[in-house]
Amino acid sequence: MNLPKTDKKRIVIIGGGFAGISLAKKLKKLDAQVVMIDKHNYHTFQPLLYQVSTGGLEPDSIAYPIRKILKRLRNFHFRWATVERVDPESSELYTDIGKIRYDYLVIATGTRTNFFGNSAIETYAMPMKNVPQSLNIRSYMLQNFEKADDCEDLAERMALLNFAIIGGGPTGVELAGAIAELKKHVFPKDYRHLNIDEMEIHLFEGGERVLPSMSVQASKRAKQFLEDFGVYIHLNTHVSDYDGSYLTMKDGSSMRTKNFIWTAGVTGAALDGLAPEALMGQRNRYRVNEFNQVLGYEQIFAIGDIAYMETTAYPNGHPQMAQPAIQQGELLSQNLRRILNKEPMQRFKYHNKGEMATIGRNRAVVDLPKLSFAGFFAWFIWMFVHLMSLVGFRNRVVVFFNWAYNYINYDKAARLIVRPYLPKREKGNIKPLK
Ligand SMILES: Cc1cc2nc3c(=O)[nH]c(=O)nc-3n(C[C@H](O)[C@H](O)[C@H](O)COP(=O)(O)OP(=O)(O)OC[C@H]3O[C@@H](n4cnc5c(N)ncnc54)[C@H](O)[C@@H]3O)c2cc1C
Repeated sequence: MNLPKTDKKRIVIIGGGFAGISLAKKLKKLDAQVVMIDKHNYHTFQPLLYQVSTGGLEPDSIAYPIRKILKRLRNFHFRWATVERVDPESSELYTDIGKIRYDYLVIATGTRTNFFGNSAIETYAMPMKNVPQSLNIRSYMLQNFEKADDCEDLAERMALLNFAIIGGGPTGVELAGAIAELKKHVFPKDYRHLNIDEMEIHLFEGGERVLPSMSVQASKRAKQFLEDFGVYIHLNTHVSDYDGSYLTMKDGSSMRTKNFIWTAGVTGAALDGLAPEALMGQRNRYRVNEFNQVLGYEQIFAIGDIAYMETTAYPNGHPQMAQPAIQQGELLSQNLRRILNKEPMQRFKYHNKGEMATIGRNRAVVDLPKLSFAGFFAWFIWMFVHLMSLVGFRNRVVVFFNWAYNYINYDKAARLIVRPYLPKREKGNIKPLK
């Protein structure tokens, strides 16, 4: 890689997500060269991806160029590249644009969608983990509605209009709520000749409640809110197969749909090259100590979703959420400074600020460490927290005006098929399932 030669220590950060950005921002005055590598040239605010998928926001409202976020860092370099492998022996990284040497390496690569080894589902499902995937969902949903408007056959039309969302975590719940809003307020105006009652939204969850990571009270309220909206909730239901038209449940029952969205789990976006003991196999996360050092490597750190730190308070690792990622990034910036100054590092302690999810307009559930509430006030808090957490003043203003416009007009303005999406099954390169 063509980087300025330097006598200073080089810190390489892989990933400009919540963890990588919160770390890099605080390295302003560090006497070191900082290099960030990401396969996207922008940071994504993943909590609002579902609003891009459902036409509520344009992608540039929730994504921000990494170079712009970190423009004030003089010692900083960004490289748009995908890291393929780490060589800890030579302290080098191999990427698709060349290799780079590091003195300290920070792995902040987050997670990728977990299909739990089900290749049929992986082939045909629509995941929602990044901006291009959210745009795929937006386009495909609208394409299917356009087809349905011109379709005479009832069964075929219902397959085009039905939605199956797999995974009852915050992403599945928020997505189901937003699609239900489209059904109630937007699609009846756009497709006046379609019978909107032919559209069904199904949410499938393998466990016994939606929002399993939140309180029982929040789960109950969220389920009620969704049902009030007409969403069908299938608990204790495992979807085992999907062939592009029919999904099959473990108990043998099936359902026909062209809109199959997979939000059922994630697995760590680990890299090749480190010793197998460094990985927590099941979750594909790097085992780290309380300073976020990867097991067996003094100069390699992992932060955010990819880091697996067992503590007394969190024996199964921290939740894979924005707050632990941000807090680990911030502490690591201080610890890197301490290392360069030959001072002892500080241990990580997670400060839980709570969890929340929204279900359409006016409704949300909030779990704070000592308090749980739901309804309009919770929705207001949800909006405020998400607005203030967005990167960049412009994005906050744009999102605020979009939300205000959508709220007043019962609308979601970004209903555009800018880039038609052709699923793999229709590209002719995949054999249909028997
Ligand atoms: C749809 C959705 C909704 C969510 N909602 C919430 C929510 O409401 N609240 C909440 O707290 N959390 C939420 N989360 C989880 C939250 O987004 C993550 O916990 C958080 O993003 C973790 O930050 P991170 O920095 O570890 O990883 P990420 O933010 O995922 O960043 C990882 C970065 O690494 C880059 N990268 C990965 N591999 C490579 C490679 N090999 N080479 C180069 N670059 C690479 C990626 O491009 C990405 O920019 C949600 C997640 C999703 C997907």
